[in-house]
Amino acid sequence: MEAIAKQSEVKNFIDGKFTKNMHETMDVISPLDGSIISKLPLSNYNDVDKAVNAAKKAFIGWSSQTLKERVQVFFKYRMLLEKNKDELTKLIRLENGKNYDEAKAEVEKSIELCEFAVSMPQIVVNEIQEVSKGVECRIERKPLGVVASITPFNFPNMVPHWTIPNALVFGNTMVMKPSEEVPLSTVRIAELLKEAGLPDGVFNLVNGGKEVVEAICDHPDIEAVSFVGSTKVAKIVYKRATSSLKRCVALGGAKNHLIVLPDANPGMTASNVVASMSGCAGQRCMAASVMVGVDKVQHIIDKMVEESKKIIPGKNLGAIISAEAKKRIEKYITEAEADGAKILVDGRNAVVSGKDEGFYVGVTIIDHVTTEMSVAREEIFGPVISIIRAKNLDEAIEIENGSNYGNAAAVFTQSGGLAKEVMDRASAGMIGVNIGVPVPREPFSFGGWNESKFGVGDITGRSSIEFWTQNKKVTTKWNPESQINWMS
Ligand code: NAD
Repeated sequence: MEAIAKQSEVKNFIDGKFTKNMHETMDVISPLDGSIISKLPLSNYNDVDKAVNAAKKAFIGWSSQTLKERVQVFFKYRMLLEKNKDELTKLIRLENGKNYDEAKAEVEKSIELCEFAVSMPQIVVNEIQEVSKGVECRIERKPLGVVASITPFNFPNMVPHWTIPNALVFGNTMVMKPSEEVPLSTVRIAELLKEAGLPDGVFNLVNGGKEVVEAICDHPDIEAVSFVGSTKVAKIVYKRATSSLKRCVALGGAKNHLIVLPDANPGMTASNVVASMSGCAGQRCMAASVMVGVDKVQHIIDKMVEESKKIIPGKNLGAIISAEAKKRIEKYITEAEADGAKILVDGRNAVVSGKDEGFYVGVTIIDHVTTEMSVAREEIFGPVISIIRAKNLDEAIEIENGSNYGNAAAVFTQSGGLAKEVMDRASAGMIGVNIGVPVPREPFSFGGWNESKFGVGDITGRSSIEFWTQNKKVTTKWNPESQINWMS
């Protein structure tokens, strides 16, 4: 594949050019078969500094364009994503291990994110009002300057598009640090942005690990940091970025609870729950992780077991990101078993013929889990669902509320009244009613509660407009004859 050959070595992209690597490298491994697909430079503060300087220089010209001018680049870029969809899809699959269809859906979501960004001239209309006779006050939205975006492994193409289009159309310039596990997609994003006509220095890429993240948090010329990843790192980044007086939104991990009531439609519920926990091999921050079964739901659980048999590793179930992650997931299952839970479907030791070195875990359904077990409390990030039995809806909501996380929650029922109860009382930022993956689409914004997000506002949709801009309040009086009162 051409794109793979091109990226036999991942390079940083600074000021519109790929730079020569001067650092130690680490291997990039495909989860599909464990093969080494590229090498990644472990960059440091100096590389971040160079990228920031390029972004600062580019900010002058880019921010002086109008919003309508800037979105033209993203109209072209959106077409390039469409044109290169198949190649981008294969690249996601190669580095992340998800299925072709899941990877394709990811690129399609990136296209949708660009469509929201190019509609900003229609959405963002500045406010103006005559506040006293002849005196007008208006609000203008201005960019922040150089901003940064740090992304995780699970959506190599989509999560970068949560930030790039919106931040850039408002006139900011960016330094991005993708996950070291999936750096190839972002390299193609940089190339396509350039092809679309984005001026040099507006988008820069610095590859590496912790050291790059720390440099971003500390750099005095970066104004805002957007982070998506685990809660552990989200906390570190939020604390470090805000302590150096930056604006920060840091999205963390998840432990999403789906509450299933006995009146739920059995077929739809079983297939939705299984699709939610197994899609992208359970490596979605919106994936179902705990099912709280209220009262008599055995018939639904039986259907889930049946449903799970249709999901075959390596066929319609993608790979787990790394050997280490596979080991971690299997350890959780073993612990639950030792603690007395009942494994209804066991995905341990999955093998995919011809891909013995790949990282696969089959769908796993664990019943009779109790709230103190690690599978009930911690993020597993694999195709595993823990079923906790509850006597009634109050108890189910209490279990959901007991989680430290709060990304998503869902309820499955045919009763509007009971669904509303969960909508009102669940402690999560995104709620689904009869929907297992309740991702809000633009213009609605994406973001959780509790330890699933640190900072004010959400990362996408309308909410992101606030994050990527600052307001300038301008008061004007053009006619010297206008008499003003003391407040003007
Ligand atoms: P991660 O936290 O390990 O890594 C995210 C980023 O942080 C990467 O770029 C990585 O290089 C960097 N990083 C890792 N350790 C660091 C450290 N000690 N100091 C500084 N930087 C560090 O996350 P991941 O494994 O790539 O992604 C999976 C996690 O992301 C899951 O917890 C998942 O729930 C979460 N996630 C959340 C959302 C959301 O919207 N809330 C979306 C996608 C993924």
